[in-house]
Amino acid sequence: MSFLKLGIIGYPLTHSLSPLLHAELMRQLGVDGEYRKYEISPEALPITLPQLAQQGIRGVNVTIPHKVAVMHAMDWLSPEAELAGAVNTIVFQPDPSGNILRQGHNTDIAGFMRGLPSSARNPLQQSHVLVLGAGGSARAVMTGLIQAQTQAITFAVRNPAKALSITSDGQLIKKTLNSPTQLNLVALDNLSDTPGGNLSGFAGLINTTPVGMYPNNIQSPLSSLQLQTLPSHAWVYDLIYRPVETQLLQQAQALGLTAINGLDMLIYQGICAFELWSGRQVPDTLVNALRHSLQQQLEKSPNQ
Ligand code: NAP
Repeated sequence: MSFLKLGIIGYPLTHSLSPLLHAELMRQLGVDGEYRKYEISPEALPITLPQLAQQGIRGVNVTIPHKVAVMHAMDWLSPEAELAGAVNTIVFQPDPSGNILRQGHNTDIAGFMRGLPSSARNPLQQSHVLVLGAGGSARAVMTGLIQAQTQAITFAVRNPAKALSITSDGQLIKKTLNSPTQLNLVALDNLSDTPGGNLSGFAGLINTTPVGMYPNNIQSPLSSLQLQTLPSHAWVYDLIYRPVETQLLQQAQALGLTAINGLDMLIYQGICAFELWSGRQVPDTLVNALRHSLQQQLEKSPNQ
């Protein structure tokens, strides 16, 4: 394989772990290549994206704030990207006449689902899941959960009027995938209005808000009093990986609940992207080594 040129576009790009993840993947697989950060402002995106394609770059990850904006600049969208309404991976694919086609994918969905342990994933058709937040990552979460025919999802948000589009877009995804998933929206402050007046009806809880993210490590989106109303077999999945163990996950662990952090989602979305770019299958045996490297980096410099 020739030298593999990869990267990530976003603005700003100070806190990405993706360069380390992909450097480690290339090292472990013996692939000769590079993964560079391309900090591109929203104003510069329409001009700079086509230029990247001309520089022999095989593909890029896309992060905040470009995941929705780049959709319109793609020549082709994967079914997942179309469903989620967001692109996190672009493949620059030369066609036979020498044009470079921009193919948009969404590997956040697969990353999120693969991060979910099978004990949580297998019973989703009988599970009611509570999702905190309704931003970009909540949409990838919703798409994965609807694809898995999850029984019901309730989004709890601080501003329901602003979040209305998540459930209306979810209805379209349900229709496309012929999924029975029920979708509800409640105000975070009114969580006690959920059936039963507490969280006992939920099999799992997913935090997609940045509450608890470095440097606000001591914050949690829910109190321990609220969490202790979850069933004893419930799981709590925090998409945050910086810190590796958020306040929310510490509270969940103290209550004996299954706690899952965002590191595996990050690793799996990266693996799926790398497989698209390189055409290589990444063996599952590499996941532990990748997790170890990223954890070490996060412990060494929690703000990088
Ligand atoms: P986003 O698009 O900005 O969405 C954030 C959501 O959280 C919005 O619904 C926002 O509500 C809500 N929110 C923000 N501050 C809040 C607060 N103080 N209280 C209650 N709700 C609040 O961000 P995102 O891209 O979805 O990312 C969210 C988190 O997920 C980040 O911590 C990010 O690091 C993490 N993440 C992890 C991975 C991974 O691979 N593990 C991937 C993607 C994201 P408003 O609309 O009212 O502002």
